[in-house]
Amino acid sequence: MIKPIIIIGSGFAAYQLVKTLRRENTQQAITVITACEGDEYSKPDLSHVFSNKQTAADLVRMNALQFATEYNITLLTRHRVDSIDTLNKTLTANNKQFAYDKLVIATGASAFVPPTEGDAADRIITLNSLSEYKSAQEKLTTAESVLVIGAGLIGTEIAMDLNRSGRQVVLVDPAKSLLAALLPDFIAAQLYQSLGNSRVDINLGTQVSRLEQTSDEQSINVTLSNGRTFQVDGVISAAGLKANTRLASEAGITCGRGIIVDSKLQSSARDVYALGDCAEIDGKLLPFLQPILLSANALAKTLLGRPSEIKLPAMLVKVKTPHYPIQLCGNTTQAGARWQIDAAAQGMTAKAFDDKNQLIGFVVTQDNMKQAFPLLRQLPAVL
Ligand SMILES: Cc1cc2nc3c(=O)[nH]c(=O)nc-3n(C[C@H](O)[C@H](O)[C@H](O)COP(=O)(O)OP(=O)(O)OC[C@H]3O[C@@H](n4cnc5c(N)ncnc54)[C@H](O)[C@@H]3O)c2cc1C
Repeated sequence: MIKPIIIIGSGFAAYQLVKTLRRENTQQAITVITACEGDEYSKPDLSHVFSNKQTAADLVRMNALQFATEYNITLLTRHRVDSIDTLNKTLTANNKQFAYDKLVIATGASAFVPPTEGDAADRIITLNSLSEYKSAQEKLTTAESVLVIGAGLIGTEIAMDLNRSGRQVVLVDPAKSLLAALLPDFIAAQLYQSLGNSRVDINLGTQVSRLEQTSDEQSINVTLSNGRTFQVDGVISAAGLKANTRLASEAGITCGRGIIVDSKLQSSARDVYALGDCAEIDGKLLPFLQPILLSANALAKTLLGRPSEIKLPAMLVKVKTPHYPIQLCGNTTQAGARWQIDAAAQGMTAKAFDDKNQLIGFVVTQDNMKQAFPLLRQLPAVL
């Protein structure tokens, strides 16, 4: 019997790989095994479901059956892979065993929820998948006030979107500025002002220490570590991601922060590859669509017998905050970088240079977006 390529997961990484494989080869046997419903959707759409008044069903681009038919694959939904035997090249899911020729682990990442005291801690919602939104949408639709934990990329986008949909929003993060891992202080300050003008209640340099049910169990009493208390109807955590590596590490595959792969996305186990938010490439986690897309293109070739290395150029990060849109690239938080700033009321262009006067990163905002691509071409490749 011909053994298929098996892909674990049905997120952007898995489905992008299926599409690329099919463009190259219509006959190759492909099996996708996924713990979720297997519907195709665009995860970045979750950043604006509230202002767009979209349900989880509205985000589905192709349901699982349509996808399986369109791309001629065997698709097993609601099948959680429990173990991988890399010696015998088999895996188990729902008490069944499957043999693979080549295996791609595309298990993504899970939202990290900071440990929190109180009897409402289990009411914290995460929005890192369609199914997470589906199970929370009813509660969130009726919520008039929402606490967002985490003022990174996702948390800030969600906070602005909730605010645009008319809800009261409280944003909390232990960092001293918004998007602290991505933005220099002077741009973060502009975004802060924009969110503040829209009446998002921003609390930086503090964290949530306690969540308690109100006596009618409808709302939640929040206590911050700085002593402030207030009440909200819902709590969303967007405090970061943790790559899903358990399956791989239990199979003896080398993992760090993610499943460690080489430049062909090969893991430490023979014929086992990793792709997407679960993979660690050259010491980096790259939880964005563009690197996944480029990686899937190279991996498809490798899986079909033409070993190909991934080449990742400098890539733009878009911050989907419509009141204060931002694009950035390269090294934008390096200590000691020299910044050249061109600021006007309609937008800012900020370029970061190293001590050799080499452009190492940039940030553009609002009406200056058109400067992003020319600047991108001036940056050296990052990988
Ligand atoms: C709100 C939000 C907005 C975003 N916006 C942007 C943006 O604007 N631009 C951008 O570039 N990126 C954005 N991202 C990031 C981007 O969406 C992700 O990097 C990408 O979707 C990850 O895809 P993935 O397939 O690796 O993981 P996932 O989509 O998490 O898929 C993982 C899959 O693995 C399955 N799985 C896990 N464990 C098992 C198991 N044991 N057995 C079987 N199946 C399993 C899951 O069911 C799932 O199908 C955003 C992310 C979020 C949350």
